[in-house]
Amino acid sequence: MGIAAISSMLGLGWIATYLAKKWLLRPPGGQNEAEFLAKCIKCDRCRSVCPTSVIGVAHVEDGLAEARTPIMKFHDGYCTMCGKCTEVCPTGALQLFDERTVKIGLATITDTCIAWNADGCTVCFDACPYGAIYLDAHNRPVVDAQKCNGCGKCEKVCPALVLRSYVGGKTRGIEVRPRDGEV
Ligand code: SF4
Ligand code: SF4
Ligand code: SF4
Repeated sequence: MGIAAISSMLGLGWIATYLAKKWLLRPPGGQNEAEFLAKCIKCDRCRSVCPTSVIGVAHVEDGLAEARTPIMKFHDGYCTMCGKCTEVCPTGALQLFDERTVKIGLATITDTCIAWNADGCTVCFDACPYGAIYLDAHNRPVVDAQKCNGCGKCEKVCPALVLRSYVGGKTRGIEVRPRDGEV
């Protein structure tokens, strides 16, 4: 039994929360999480140089070791795969990546998607630079997992958040999430 599970049993939920492994979305070139964490010195250079402001920082709720490390925030921007973050990284935590094969995460339709709840929205389909979204027979977006590289443009432009904000909703109709089994 792991330390997180034991902490949870003893009622020390806050310890379990900090110890529980969360999958975080890293800038391109940082997808090997173990290697990334071993090398990142939290210097903030990648965040400072990113021209689209898509890089934010993890907080202590994301894990003690992970706090202050760079994570992707697709409500603020999206990744153009420009590679500037990799160029300035002084430790190799972000490694040179191949734009054709790198996968930050996978776009996933959520239960707030306007098209899947009603109809009339094709914003993410129109915005995807990689042709990774197609429309089904009812004009609803479907993600092609092979083509999606997790750039986050679909999440950035999704209007579902705006339409639902009056009830406090924060989930967009499409979100980039870690791929299963990603390390
Ligand atoms: S590749 Fe460019 S746009 Fe993408 S996270 Fe790095 S600096 Fe930002
Ligand atoms: S530039 Fe490299 S070492 Fe510095 S915070 Fe970004 S990933 Fe970490
Ligand atoms: S994250 Fe969204 S916009 Fe980017 S490739 Fe995947 S489906 Fe297309």
